[in-house]
Amino acid sequence: MKMPLRERLRRWMAGRYSTIDALYRFLSTAAMVLILLALVLRLPLLDWLALALLIYAWYRLLSRDIARRAAENAAFVRWQQQILGAVRQRRVRWAQRRLYLYCRCPACRQQVRVPRGHGRVAITCPKCHTEFVKKS
Ligand SMILES: [Zn+2]
Repeated sequence: MKMPLRERLRRWMAGRYSTIDALYRFLSTAAMVLILLALVLRLPLLDWLALALLIYAWYRLLSRDIARRAAENAAFVRWQQQILGAVRQRRVRWAQRRLYLYCRCPACRQQVRVPRGHGRVAITCPKCHTEFVKKS
């Protein structure tokens, strides 16, 4: 007896990662952007890059190594959060650029924020307690 296609597909997908996760969404979105860029810039190389991203995304969907695919996605999400955090911090610094001076401790590279408009100030690093002078 012939099994319905839907059931055959379900059995074939059983035990595979088959999860639309953050990394899958990123890979397919990046591929779409590359395909559009390839059209606009007339660079066929970008099409191949997009194809490679899609093949990797599909490979992950069909992979049976579920633990490894989940770990990949977790690492990707951590990396994405770091990037987003850095962008958010840049925006805050830019919005407050007239209110605060952001500088780094010359000894330990700790970032320090001091109010502007106080002339030359002695700054004590909150982390290593090194003192340095800056014009606020
Ligand atoms: Zn320091």
